[in-house]
Amino acid sequence: MNRMNKTIAFFGMMTMAVVMVPSVWAQDSRWSSEDSAMVARIHDHVLGQGGCVEDLRVLCKEVGARLSGSPEADAAILWGAKTLREAGAPEVRMQTVIVPHWERSDVERAWMRIDGGQAEPLKISALGGSIGTEGQIEAPVRVFRQFEELDSLGADGLDGAIAFFNRPMDPLMISAGGAYGGANNQRSRGAVEAADHGGVAALVRSLTHALDTFPHTGAMRYDDAVHRVPAAAVSTVDARRIAGLLSDGHDVRVGLEMGCILHDDKAQANVIAEWTGTEYPDRYIVVGGHLDSWDIGEGAHDDGAGIVHSIEVMRTLVALGYQPRHTIRVVLFINEENGNNGGKTYARKAREKGEWHVAALESDAGGDAPRGWAIDATDAGTEAVRAWRESLVDYGMGDLRRGGAGVDIGPLKKEKPADQRPLMVGLRPNSQRYFDYHHSDRDVFENVHPRELKLGAAALTSMVYLLDRLEYEALGTEDE
Ligand SMILES: [Zn+2]
Repeated sequence: MNRMNKTIAFFGMMTMAVVMVPSVWAQDSRWSSEDSAMVARIHDHVLGQGGCVEDLRVLCKEVGARLSGSPEADAAILWGAKTLREAGAPEVRMQTVIVPHWERSDVERAWMRIDGGQAEPLKISALGGSIGTEGQIEAPVRVFRQFEELDSLGADGLDGAIAFFNRPMDPLMISAGGAYGGANNQRSRGAVEAADHGGVAALVRSLTHALDTFPHTGAMRYDDAVHRVPAAAVSTVDARRIAGLLSDGHDVRVGLEMGCILHDDKAQANVIAEWTGTEYPDRYIVVGGHLDSWDIGEGAHDDGAGIVHSIEVMRTLVALGYQPRHTIRVVLFINEENGNNGGKTYARKAREKGEWHVAALESDAGGDAPRGWAIDATDAGTEAVRAWRESLVDYGMGDLRRGGAGVDIGPLKKEKPADQRPLMVGLRPNSQRYFDYHHSDRDVFENVHPRELKLGAAALTSMVYLLDRLEYEALGTEDE
């Protein structure tokens, strides 16, 4: 509904308020002329002269995939610090973070045998954290959609088979992120469920709406109470084929050979750029994304986009001569994908130093065109952002929902008393194509649209500016 329709509807209900409504409406739901002018300048600057597309190209093509613990992640940390300095950050430092170091290895092979015939190659991707196969495994496959179906088999019901979890992301859900959330326990917990019922491995349908031939990796976990079995993803095309063969009554065996290695933990770092505020130097607004990625593809959408969006915040506000009221920190977090130790370490250090983070922003939902924001705040904080909705709509970022703002900034909420929790917002781009790329060989620079990436950077920069303009005495102080 546009503004005019709303106003007309309101007149229809309350004719006595005819004179008051337009001015109250304008006051409550749009930015001041000063803020409108600044947001326009931010967009002009990013769209006209922004550096985020070139930053993403360098991160993807010269650094590449950068899983925590890898030499590429070390290179990404150095690149991030250098790029933030060049963007004009007054101070850049490293914050040491201990991260896990899992490696896929060069040995990653799978095959399929139908009714005892010849082995046909099958493309897989080991799930992050999986153990290796220590040689080869070949076993019959049984297909499941829900873990409850395994329970009905009993403790040894799989009897040495491979459990194949084939529940698709729900195509009827409007939110692709919601559909992902409804399917990803197969990836995170499939190996535990398989082992717990006598299975020798878990094979998981890739988490994507796309019907294609790319396996999508991602984090999985073990449970200390259950012995460990290997876990791998297959593409949606292969998943459909295997399920079809099984439902037609064929005998399907799958072979796996994976050389995954879990090295000792390693010291890496969050990269922190700091710009001291003029009015409230001891109050912080943090904005960031995660520098690590999975080890396949280039981590372009996940989360190269969020990293270059965040760097662009610094570059743009410095170039426009802005003087922040609060201290602004751009944080390139490490290890979101398989541990979140970057986010946890940052929050712990902030608590130890007694730092008051008034606001926290994250971009970790891809580089597609912005649609709006996920808000995680008190009622007062949420209302402060909602009051801008009509102006945000003009820039295509007016879809406001309460919800998780980001994994990296999440621990800031958990580790703070209620009266010091930041007003948290996460950039929400269009989610419909994100999982086509997510955690796969398709997550490359070429699959990020340059103009949409810039619009995301301009949106994030605008929101940092707007949150810097708020007064926080009255916000973020009430309990939930
Ligand atoms: Zn991510």
